[in-house]
Amino acid sequence: MPEKIIPLTDLRSPAMPVPRELEAPTGLLSDALGRPLHDLRISVTDRCNFRCVYCMPKEVFDKDYAYLPHGELLSFEEITRVARLFIAHGVEKIRLTGGEPLLRKNLERLVGMLRALGTPSGRPLDLTLTTNGSLLARKAQALKDAGLDRVTVSLDALDDTVFRRMNDVDFAVSDVLHGLDAAHAAGLGPIKVNMVVKRGTNEDQILPMARHFKGSPFILRFIEYMDVGASNGWNMDEVIPSAEVVRRIGLELPLAPVAANYSGETAARWRYLDGGGEVGLISSVTQAFCHDCTRLRLSTEGKLYTCLFATRGHDLRVLLRGGRLDAEISGAIAQLWRGRADRYSETRTVDTAGLARGGRKVEMSYIGG
Ligand code: SF4
Repeated sequence: MPEKIIPLTDLRSPAMPVPRELEAPTGLLSDALGRPLHDLRISVTDRCNFRCVYCMPKEVFDKDYAYLPHGELLSFEEITRVARLFIAHGVEKIRLTGGEPLLRKNLERLVGMLRALGTPSGRPLDLTLTTNGSLLARKAQALKDAGLDRVTVSLDALDDTVFRRMNDVDFAVSDVLHGLDAAHAAGLGPIKVNMVVKRGTNEDQILPMARHFKGSPFILRFIEYMDVGASNGWNMDEVIPSAEVVRRIGLELPLAPVAANYSGETAARWRYLDGGGEVGLISSVTQAFCHDCTRLRLSTEGKLYTCLFATRGHDLRVLLRGGRLDAEISGAIAQLWRGRADRYSETRTVDTAGLARGGRKVEMSYIGG
């Protein structure tokens, strides 16, 4: 049974130190393991309208749960300011996450502000968003018009009963499918559909999902169930390895591996031999990809997390609201990334999972997936 109390604010988040010697960003930052800074995931809300059992279980995130008050959230202006600094350091992809990001009011205004940012290379920023799809039908066109490139939609089952049980708020699968169609019609793409596979919960949905999205405009990706956060009661027995997912699909719909689109791609690609498109497999438990991890996460209230499994954030907001200059904040970011040596998934064992070293892991609903 998950524990009931989850600290809302990570009290172990010190203000990020500002280096004495400042330097202009070169766009070529490397961390302690030689990994560049390429992706920034920005959580825009800690709220969600679903209660997925592996992310925001109802027993923990109930009606008494204390979400962040609005004044604690980074404003759109603050987010845009830090995004500009990250882009100068080499970030080329920004993903908006939550909670459920479409719950943040006027999100398309933020999308427009981010879209207007230039990159040192002159290449357009890759601007995307991860959503549960519940509000997508309503929002897709406005997001596209504001400059969003694409979306990733989480969908854990095609069977309505299984899906309603997993989201735990009785949300119908047809509404998410409608949202996907609206996103496609609006011109957002490529659109990916993420399915977290949990043994004994939705494993019988692997094939129906594969059949449904085969030959469609959507790329289905299967994600191994992970020990994120501290509230989902993770157990290795509940993980279905990606190799097993490929085997099960391949029995009916033969697959062959495909080369990655780019270095650092989280999903391994497999294509249908009959030309029906491809699926992705994200194997962060059985085939960790930390060696290529170029992602930094910014929480709703402005803390930076250098790993999805971090136990400690780094308070950037205190610099933003403390009158610090852009050059000082930029220096603090550079210093943080240079010191990064995270590789949790590569060193995870059955013993350490669930009990992170050095404290409680941050919740996925707080920093995005
Ligand atoms: S465990 Fe941490 S370092 Fe490894 S891939 Fe995930 S976020 Fe990156």
